Amino acid sequence: MKKIVKFGGSSLAGSDQFKKVANIIQADDSRRYVVPSAPGKRFSTDTKVTDMLYQCYDTAQNGKRFQDLLKKIKDRYLEIIQGLSLNLSLDQEFETIEKLFLEKAGSDYAASRGEYLNGILLANYLGYEFIDAAEVIFFNEKGIFDAKKTNQILAQRLETVERAVIPGFYGSLPDGSIKTFSRGGSDITGSIVAKAVKADLYENWTDVSGFLIADPRIIENPEAITTITYKELRELSYMGATVLHEDAIFPVRKAGIPINIRNTNRPQDEGTMIVESTCRKPKYTITGIAGKKGFVAINVEKDMMNSEIGFGRKILSAFEKYGISFEHVPSGIDTLTVFVHQPEFEGKEQQVLSEIHRLAEPDSIEMESDLALIAVVGRGMRASKGTAGRIFSALAHANINVKMIDQGSSELNIIIGVRNQDFEAAIKAIYDIFVLIQL
Ligand code: ASP
Repeated sequence: MKKIVKFGGSSLAGSDQFKKVANIIQADDSRRYVVPSAPGKRFSTDTKVTDMLYQCYDTAQNGKRFQDLLKKIKDRYLEIIQGLSLNLSLDQEFETIEKLFLEKAGSDYAASRGEYLNGILLANYLGYEFIDAAEVIFFNEKGIFDAKKTNQILAQRLETVERAVIPGFYGSLPDGSIKTFSRGGSDITGSIVAKAVKADLYENWTDVSGFLIADPRIIENPEAITTITYKELRELSYMGATVLHEDAIFPVRKAGIPINIRNTNRPQDEGTMIVESTCRKPKYTITGIAGKKGFVAINVEKDMMNSEIGFGRKILSAFEKYGISFEHVPSGIDTLTVFVHQPEFEGKEQQVLSEIHRLAEPDSIEMESDLALIAVVGRGMRASKGTAGRIFSALAHANINVKMIDQGSSELNIIIGVRNQDFEAAIKAIYDIFVLIQL
């Protein structure tokens, strides 16, 4: 049994957190390959080391004095070294970093040092081998992740290494310089390592007990989802629910490796299992609820629209021309509504409208702004009757007017449009009816 364990920044923010991490790793012999993030926030007003590094490098690049900032970063690591009584000096590493900052080695190099140094510390503490990600994670000359080369070299390297720490977030370009993934990218590294060693499980340790049914800023203490499929996760993430970097899914999904989201501060919790498919019935009819505010609905009307072939294409091409992506297109017999992101649309509104007039000659166009979209997602909806009925009666009871309904034939989700101001109340009403009341 082989498990990859990735620990996020808050799990490695200080020496006390490092102790928890070591206990977790040592509690299970199959936790053989460890991917750390850089030290995150220790308290809510704290600054992540990655952010400190970006800021420090910016200062260096502007030709200003950056050494004090670098010293503050070093202090973050020294606290961990002292707290764990490690026999380790980072003096040389910091001399190299200072030198390369002066030589303008790039902001990717700068940011990557957070994970690099944390990896050295963690490997030393655990007694595991340290493998620099620059030697095993590769990007091509265009800066795109090179999955084939990485998988080949990483798999070969780890074949002979029983236990190792591989820092997350970065790799190297063909010329040897450092390149990072986008922010939060250590999740991707974990997934890549899991694929390379054909792991049985990819454990992603963070500071929440899994993927929550609804946003905790809206619902007090929402329950965690026990099992979610990749498809469901995609629907919820798209609507703003994030625990995991989106790109972390692809390597393991293809290899059929499940991801288990776990809480470093509550290792007794089972967390959320993310799987390709499952015969396990979800606890509730719905798996999760997520949503976003800030949409505009553009409602186009034209008599006999239903018989005008190409009408929809003409409308959508007006949006395409101005680089605006659409979210949903519910339609009636003589109407078609396009939902778009308000901030994206506002600046180009008049151009898009005249384009629609020119191409499709509609009878009228009406717009409504400040709308929110809510996705109610669940594989359990397919097998159960009355889900939509329950949603809408809950919303009616909460006195919320539904502006739009969209259900794909996959029956995996129902999208509901409401006014921005009803957003929170709508999510609460849906959560209550499915999770709290559990009819
Ligand atoms: N440390 C990086 C960031 O803050 C990457 C990561 O934590 O995954 O984005």
